[in-house]
Amino acid sequence: MASIFTKIIQGEIPCYKIAEDERFFAFLDINPIAEGHVLVIPKSETDYIFDLEDDLLSGLTLFAKKIATAIDLSLGTIRTGIIVEGLEVPHAHMHLIPIYFEEQPFTLSRKIEVKQERMVELAKLISKAVKQ
Ligand code: AMP
Repeated sequence: MASIFTKIIQGEIPCYKIAEDERFFAFLDINPIAEGHVLVIPKSETDYIFDLEDDLLSGLTLFAKKIATAIDLSLGTIRTGIIVEGLEVPHAHMHLIPIYFEEQPFTLSRKIEVKQERMVELAKLISKAVKQ
């Protein structure tokens, strides 16, 4: 059965899309731990990130860099952090977490509430800053 992320890529489930290319896709996490929390994923479905073939893993990292740069440019962060966990959705992904201040909580277990209109706005801000 297709993962929820494959369904998002295929447009069967809606998302706050940020960017995509031939191999990768980026969208907002619906249960963010900070405003502008993004997930980057390979379009092909593999559960464990370290099972990805080398070229795909390095490509995912470079795609994450491009999106993190856009987050930093558009949201006034001090930097963007990465978390890789993968315990909930069996489709390899990196969490890109905008960091706005030094003592900001940095754990997936501390979700925040972001209103739908703000999610739309955040997705627009970040996606406009992604360099093609
Ligand atoms: P994990 O597999 O533990 O690294 O976390 C999976 C992440 O996917 C969680 O932070 C969820 O909030 C997120 N997530 C699950 N379903 C969706 C969805 N439909 N759209 C966006 N993010 C999702």
